[in-house]
Amino acid sequence: MSQRSFIVIGAGVIGASVAFRLAQGGAKVTVIEAGEIGSGTSSTSFAWVNAHDKSPRAYHDLNVAGRAAHREIAKELKGDWYHETGCLEWRDAADRDAHVQNVERLQDWGYNACWITRDQAIDYEPVIDRVGIADAQVTFFPDEGWLDTASYVRGLLAAASALGTHVVTNTRVTGIEWDGQQVLGIETDDALSYRADVVVNCMGRWADDSVLPNELQVPMSPSYGLLVYVDAPGIDLNHVLFTPRCHIRPDRSGGLLICKNDAIHMLGPDTVVDTAMPEVISLIEEASRMFPKLASMRASEVKLGIRAIPADGLPAIGPLPSIAGYYVAIMHSGVTLAPAVGTMVAAELLDDTNLDALAPFRPSRLVSMS
Ligand SMILES: Cc1cc2nc3c(=O)[nH]c(=O)nc-3n(C[C@H](O)[C@H](O)[C@H](O)COP(=O)(O)OP(=O)(O)OC[C@H]3O[C@@H](n4cnc5c(N)ncnc54)[C@H](O)[C@@H]3O)c2cc1C
Repeated sequence: MSQRSFIVIGAGVIGASVAFRLAQGGAKVTVIEAGEIGSGTSSTSFAWVNAHDKSPRAYHDLNVAGRAAHREIAKELKGDWYHETGCLEWRDAADRDAHVQNVERLQDWGYNACWITRDQAIDYEPVIDRVGIADAQVTFFPDEGWLDTASYVRGLLAAASALGTHVVTNTRVTGIEWDGQQVLGIETDDALSYRADVVVNCMGRWADDSVLPNELQVPMSPSYGLLVYVDAPGIDLNHVLFTPRCHIRPDRSGGLLICKNDAIHMLGPDTVVDTAMPEVISLIEEASRMFPKLASMRASEVKLGIRAIPADGLPAIGPLPSIAGYYVAIMHSGVTLAPAVGTMVAAELLDDTNLDALAPFRPSRLVSMS
């Protein structure tokens, strides 16, 4: 059989994962990236690897598969990018019932979640001021962690390149070659064109970009998040903290990353963010209730993150109806999902199979929304 060929558009966590598994399966792979590798949403993510509060069940299961696959791929490629630190969560009294319900549901689903006392939480994380936890009930999620996304993307693309993958950076896809039913290839802003058996759209939040014909776009519903980096000398945090005030984890720089992971900031794609923004000051203030030393510290860096959310919130993974040679892999929670999705997508593309685990996430459900 002749070697199958693929163009992967986008070198974020999803594109890198898909490209690596396709290359490992013996395919000829070309990755085209508009910027530097990993420079899209994957570089502006809280990057917490979890299946903590994901429903429906099929979406939870996909996230569980992602979390497990992180362990495996880090071992397989001897990568040091996955930090399985565990996560501590507590909520305000007003949200206690919802917290209990979520933990009970996760335990029913076989997810590793256990209640611990405030003293145990302080034992795990002695840098937290106990006033910051108040009398909240705390849950410990031992199997969760965070990903150094830059190292992950670099590691997977290096492995893909060693298998012959061609990675083209700073080159934007500007058009698709197709005849209305069959995608044949792509055109780029350096006036080149590339052809392949299948074009895989891993464009993240740009999946509805007008460089794609309307019929090939994925309807998106992006939202905005702020990521606040603080050097924080003397605050030696080990776990991911999911608290009512903000969410915090250790960062690859050795400092802290603070955000409100589920908050939607009223910002726009062109908002210029800076360390003096009121939203940034307020996030540091919230975090300082747990770490009083933070009160006197400023952010070292702030990033605007734009979530790559398909229109109904769930991943869009698979071909589009009646269009050959084209496959999309677009999703929020992509950091958690990437290694499992990379393996599943490559299996579907190389073996011409349809995996049950991906059935609820087919992009055909979104077509009527476009
Ligand atoms: C604030 C925030 C917090 C988050 N927190 C978490 C979390 O805690 N846990 C979690 O699992 N997920 C989280 N996410 C989601 C996660 O970061 C994303 O789902 C994931 O990074 C998406 O990866 P991707 O590879 O699909 O997209 P990207 O990383 O954006 O990659 C897509 C790439 O496509 C390229 N591209 C686009 N258009 C073109 C073109 N025309 N030609 C060539 N290249 C092109 C872009 O340059 C980009 O590099 C968070 C996201 C945000 C914004």
